[in-house]
Amino acid sequence: MADDAYDAGPVAALRRIAFLMERRLADTYRIKAYRGAAETLLGCAPGEVAERAAAGTLRELPGIGAKTAAVVEDCVAGRVPATLTKLEEDAGPLASGGDEVRAALRGDLHLHSDWSDGGSPIEEMVMTASELGHEYVVLTDHSPRLQVANGLSTARLTRQIDVVAAVNTHLGDGGFRLLHGIEVDILDDGELDQTDDMLARLDVVVASVHSKLRMERAAMTRRMVAAVRHPETNVLGHCTGRLVRGGRGTRPQSEFDPAAVFAACAEAGVAVEINSRPERTDPPDELIEQALEAGCLFSIDSDAHAPGQLDFLWYGAARAQSLGVPLERVVNTWPVDRLLTWANG
Ligand SMILES: [Zn+2]
Ligand SMILES: [Zn+2]
Repeated sequence: MADDAYDAGPVAALRRIAFLMERRLADTYRIKAYRGAAETLLGCAPGEVAERAAAGTLRELPGIGAKTAAVVEDCVAGRVPATLTKLEEDAGPLASGGDEVRAALRGDLHLHSDWSDGGSPIEEMVMTASELGHEYVVLTDHSPRLQVANGLSTARLTRQIDVVAAVNTHLGDGGFRLLHGIEVDILDDGELDQTDDMLARLDVVVASVHSKLRMERAAMTRRMVAAVRHPETNVLGHCTGRLVRGGRGTRPQSEFDPAAVFAACAEAGVAVEINSRPERTDPPDELIEQALEAGCLFSIDSDAHAPGQLDFLWYGAARAQSLGVPLERVVNTWPVDRLLTWANG
């Protein structure tokens, strides 16, 4: 077999290309072309792809363009597509120095699907998470008030419960579990943007501030402490709201009293999220250190909005490791049963 022989098939190649582009934050529109092409191929009759590749008619299929057709033709001919070869050269860990923590992470407690503002269906997120070696992930789409992110009403969230159950049935006893959660908005008064009954039905609740980030310090502290003390809250998401780089520009961190907020987290057993998104890198180092001293638990999350972004965990793992966060205090190093006992005990 030649060095560049390829036998995984065009769908795997297209998905892999999309994954590798996403983890490097490539333009969503370009990535969508690869994911869309993979979807088109999955709908083809047996033998059709090979026939079309031979006849040069792949581009008659919806969503197949010049670049994706070239990838498919290479795969059908048993060659590694050039696009893939190039991306694989850059496929190593996204951050160095986090190996020990990354290896200990069994799952991810914060990610979005196309039910809210994510770019991919639940099934694609699950498939990629499983390929990354995760044992579980928590699906945490947005709550109703975040309309720009297509937040889920109680009715849609209720429907999603059935979909999550169906995905798990489909997964069978293979070991991987899709848990159901929410990234619920912390309202101005510290209440959560979903009914208590609904929150109680979910496995894990991540509570985050997404509005009025510039609230005055004392009010913001009260707001966050109230949310942390809500009996259904498990994780305090990206606590400062800062943006350090990226397409949305930068944003300073919110003003609040970290001692009060982290004391409340420690007392309530709420994990402080180390949000791994490169543009967030939230909380900053000094606040992670303060949460450590306060005795808090942590959750290292990707906050992925696309499958490739599930790999962002490397960034959070590197930060946690360099700051000396003990593995035992990172809840997503725990086996799923322990995690669920913690979240619902
Ligand atoms: Zn958020
Ligand atoms: Zn999120």
